[in-house]
Amino acid sequence: MSATLRFQVVGEAFKKHPVDVPAPAERPSAFFAKYVFTREKMHKYLPLAVYERMMEVIDGEATLDRSTADIVAEGMKRWAMELGATHTTHWFQPLTEGTAEKHDGFVEHDGKGGMMEEFTGKQLVQQEPDASSFPSGGIRSTFEARGYSAWDPASPVFVIGDTLMIPTVFIAYTGEALDYKAPLKKALHAIDRAATDVARLFYPDVKRVRANLGWEQEYFLIDEGLYAARPDLLMTGRTLMGHYSAKNQQMDDHYFGSIPERVAAFMRDLEIQALELGIPCKTRHNEVAPNQFELAPIFEEMNLAVDHNMLLMMLMKKVARKHGFRCLLHEKPFAAVNGSGKHNNWSLTTDTGILLHAPGRTQTDNLRFITFIVETLVAVHRHNGLLKASIVSATNAHRLGANEAPPAIISSFLGKQLNDVLDNIEKSTSKLSPLGELEGAKHSIHLDIPQIPELLIDNTDRNRTSPFAFTGNRFEFRAVGAEANCASAMIALNAAVAEALQDFRQRVDALTASGTETMAAVLDVVREDISACRAIRFDGNGYSDEWKAEAARRGLDTESSVPLVIDRYLDDASIAMFRRTNVFTRAEIEARNEIKWDTYTKKIQIEARIFGDMCLNHIVPVATRYQSQLIDNVHKMSQIFGADEAEQLAANNVGLIRQIASHTSYITAHVEQLVEARRVANRIESPRQRAIAYHDTVAPLIEDIRYHVDKLEVIVDDELWPLPKYREMLFIR
Ligand code: ADP
Ligand code: MG
Repeated sequence: MSATLRFQVVGEAFKKHPVDVPAPAERPSAFFAKYVFTREKMHKYLPLAVYERMMEVIDGEATLDRSTADIVAEGMKRWAMELGATHTTHWFQPLTEGTAEKHDGFVEHDGKGGMMEEFTGKQLVQQEPDASSFPSGGIRSTFEARGYSAWDPASPVFVIGDTLMIPTVFIAYTGEALDYKAPLKKALHAIDRAATDVARLFYPDVKRVRANLGWEQEYFLIDEGLYAARPDLLMTGRTLMGHYSAKNQQMDDHYFGSIPERVAAFMRDLEIQALELGIPCKTRHNEVAPNQFELAPIFEEMNLAVDHNMLLMMLMKKVARKHGFRCLLHEKPFAAVNGSGKHNNWSLTTDTGILLHAPGRTQTDNLRFITFIVETLVAVHRHNGLLKASIVSATNAHRLGANEAPPAIISSFLGKQLNDVLDNIEKSTSKLSPLGELEGAKHSIHLDIPQIPELLIDNTDRNRTSPFAFTGNRFEFRAVGAEANCASAMIALNAAVAEALQDFRQRVDALTASGTETMAAVLDVVREDISACRAIRFDGNGYSDEWKAEAARRGLDTESSVPLVIDRYLDDASIAMFRRTNVFTRAEIEARNEIKWDTYTKKIQIEARIFGDMCLNHIVPVATRYQSQLIDNVHKMSQIFGADEAEQLAANNVGLIRQIASHTSYITAHVEQLVEARRVANRIESPRQRAIAYHDTVAPLIEDIRYHVDKLEVIVDDELWPLPKYREMLFIR
């Protein structure tokens, strides 16, 4: 783009007015889930017996048979057609970013030369998208498998535009998962079983345990004109070059500041559409960086919450375009300002109450609370490397360990009160005693558990540098990337906690079998585990260098190279844990890792290509043109004043000419190196080794060359600079 065009684009972006978003006629509670086939609508559109059967299917108590599916499909079609639907699609979450869909019309021959609109149970339940076009990490070639998608009745269908969307799992015919939803459902099943078994030690009536997820989605908005003028944003989702703006976030004036009108209109529109699709949006605000915002719904059952997050990311992109914006979900679109994450608030609830909630009422409640906290810590400690592997990516790598949000080390913040409680238990001894009645216990037993203060519920003692913080009635996993599918992190976390709880129950059972009273046995195992997982507890500053050294001493995983972190999936402990919880087989893990390495490589490869092109086609020519102008000036000065005097008078320009020469020659030479490094890496056969080569040789060169490009940006005449600058992109008016 020419500089003139740049000024035009910037000028237009600054002049844009908010799109008019008329207020909906009804209150949000009236249009909530308008486009979702909820239980209420099933009741209306399905025969009673079928409705009742569906309720059992949704609650996981029955499986769906074909004749029920046919009747459900008929009712669904009727409902969807009333909303104007003409098509349907299975909607699934392949191992790429985002979601996938393939639409089919409700079109069938009517046998009389015409057409009729049909939608059968068969179409509802199963489809065969061409699995070969999605990443499968060698599963297809190894097993000659085709893939199919199958309806997940636990996640309600919905209508978008003219299409009935059916949430599905996506699996190979040989049974391996090709998506995120299938293993998530298995992990949720595992934690339900394991947590129920443990919860019953305290409350024999518990039937089911549900994992909840409340995600907080951060994102950037940028004017679409400016976006289109940046090939790097367009192709990679982040700016590969750009000198930071004189003003960025140092004034702390954006966080919780008033929302710009254009953005407020976008948010209103987005929220209305999200609410209509059943996403319970609650919070919206500015984030720390300029142009950065956050949306958070209230928490939901995890399977549904993950679907809703995927749906929301899709909606964000769509609605942003209507408002003349582009929504950036990349974890680090701009250097020198904060990146975007997605806090995953995780908790467990039984059908009778909450397991992570500190009640402070009875000893049983207290011990139950401590048990679930400690076993979560055991899981996070044992699998800290794996949990990091579950959130790393080429894009999230720019955030991790970069002094914002989480460091590349997983640890857990509990706050002083809870730490004190755990320390006291560790030091205590349990003994039979007539003191302290314990509910439900045959013998009275005195447990040395200090009363847990109510205050814990508003754990205001927040530590923003911790990647896994206890925040009152939940843990907040903050290291998840903004554009990631939450399921990746939640599969690892739920499976790891399920394993810890299984172990816990087995050890308690062994003690009670040899005569120990149940609560005394629980306390003994808890005490043992508090000592065992001590290393994971850290309340200090996670950004400090001292912590890196201390974490290494504690034996925590401190690796930060993405391709090497991915290795943690293949640790014996990870494979055993995933097998025991029935979440992944070794073959699945191997296949998925191949995809992860390959995705990493491709991302860096694309960045390197775009970056090289921009250097050679945009930056160097413009810098050279400006240099020629300076040379011209010096030359003419010497004609007027003579060489000696001109040397003094034009000293500044001569200096600039030299600087430009040095930067441009550095850039040109190193872009050549970059191309060569790619060529060498591309020849490597193994996906893992190739990713390592991209990490070690290609990625650092981009950063290295960028320094020189950014220097040129502050030297070259603003009139000539071809790319929108940070100060122009980062401040929506
Ligand atoms: P923060 O103070 O961290 O910005 P909020 O208090 O607004 O966040 O809550 C953030 C998210 O945590 C919301 O999605 C909220 O519904 C969710 N949340 C609150 N309680 C729980 C819980 N018990 N389990 C899971 N998520 C929860
Ligand atoms: Mg939060």
